[in-house]
Amino acid sequence: MRLVLPYNARYIINRLQQSGYTCYAVGGCVRDSILGKEPADWDFTTSALPEEIEKVFSDCRTLNFGKQYGTIGIILDNEQYEVTTYRLDGEYSDARHPDSVSFSSSLQDDLSRRDFTVNAMAYNDTDGLVDYFNGQKDLEYGVIRCVGVATNRFAEDALRILRALRFAATLGFSIEPSTASAILSGRKMLSAIASERIREELLKLLCGKNADFVLRRYRSVFAVFIPELVGTFDFEQNTKHHNRDVYRHTVAALRNIEPDPILRTTMLFHDIGKPLSHTIDKNGVSHYRNHPILGAAMTEEILRRLAMPRLFINEVSTLIRYHDIRLKPEPVMIKKLLGELGVDTVRRLYKVQRADILAQSMYQREEKLRNQDAVESLTEQIISGGECYNLKMLDINGSDLLHIGITSGEEIGKTLQALLNMVITGELSNDKPALIAAAKAI
Ligand code: ATP
Ligand code: MG
Repeated sequence: MRLVLPYNARYIINRLQQSGYTCYAVGGCVRDSILGKEPADWDFTTSALPEEIEKVFSDCRTLNFGKQYGTIGIILDNEQYEVTTYRLDGEYSDARHPDSVSFSSSLQDDLSRRDFTVNAMAYNDTDGLVDYFNGQKDLEYGVIRCVGVATNRFAEDALRILRALRFAATLGFSIEPSTASAILSGRKMLSAIASERIREELLKLLCGKNADFVLRRYRSVFAVFIPELVGTFDFEQNTKHHNRDVYRHTVAALRNIEPDPILRTTMLFHDIGKPLSHTIDKNGVSHYRNHPILGAAMTEEILRRLAMPRLFINEVSTLIRYHDIRLKPEPVMIKKLLGELGVDTVRRLYKVQRADILAQSMYQREEKLRNQDAVESLTEQIISGGECYNLKMLDINGSDLLHIGITSGEEIGKTLQALLNMVITGELSNDKPALIAAAKAI
């Protein structure tokens, strides 16, 4: 097996070799190269100790982070390459951090501490592929398999449970039976894992091409760190609009949207408020009146717990709050929506609504999609026509109002808002003299 390493990767390996050490590209970059995918980053493993790595690259910018774990960052052409000394992890008493790590002179030691066979291969041009655990075969057959005994490996570091699901989702691989059963039996250990680590794996998983399968097959794993999902499992909807229970609908909707972290997270939680907002009318039909508002609040809480960034939380919860509004292709309604949410969020909302419709029953599907098309094309027309829908676009501002004698900030705000409403409804044209006259009248 021959791989083509980029120039900087060969440069790093060569320099360490010329100084008498061994060095290999390792892990995800080897896996992705064999798959013919461009690796996100290049990691290296070497017999050189951290001080020795620094000495070899003393004329380069290096980063000293994680030196106790043997990792040195090397900056070449503004890109960071991580070079780590061969390592053996010690005991794990908390299923999170090894109590100690010790350096080793053996590549095999280093590869045996890695999580899955497909992630435990090393490569350089001198020795070719080093593959002690048949990772290449598992890559060919599409299998995620622990290096060593799965139950032990998950007990050492429970994040590996979620990483297995992440790789199954992103690579579209199946999980080898003993690894799969260790995932299910060991899932509760995930509650000991730091939110930040869970967050990163979860977002990658949700954007995977097989995320829907993994979410269905391993739902009990997700329930460990998102117990709010449990209420949606097998929750029958009892309305003509749906032919799936809430969780299966949720996962189908997630599959229908592009692999973007905000959009996929929104779909995962868009109906999470349904079980708690469920009512039945006298005809025996179910309703979920407040589910978008309740769901948005629940989602904020979940995403805060998962240590998601503030802006991300705000965007997802806004989309969930609005996901069920019934829009019509009417300019006033659309301009108000654009004014409230802004162009980017409105465009995202339409993707959310379309994915939602396509995961519902066939009842009124044609009408729903036709309406969605009309709403979207009207919106794009309003945007490209430069029509006014927010205060910034109004041909008058706060200082104009100061000039005509309105001095209180609160008055100015209210007046501008009233003028905007009149412009949106078409009662008033968006030009300064007309706006000034109207402001005086108010
Ligand atoms: P990505 O393409 O998303 O970066 P990756 O496989 O490179 O995927 P990283 O998290 O960057 O994943 O980890 C790099 C390598 O380190 C992995 O390929 C694996 O060999 C090893 N590794 C990472 N996390 C663990 C872990 N929790 N337990 C054991 N080995 C791990
Ligand atoms: Mg990586």
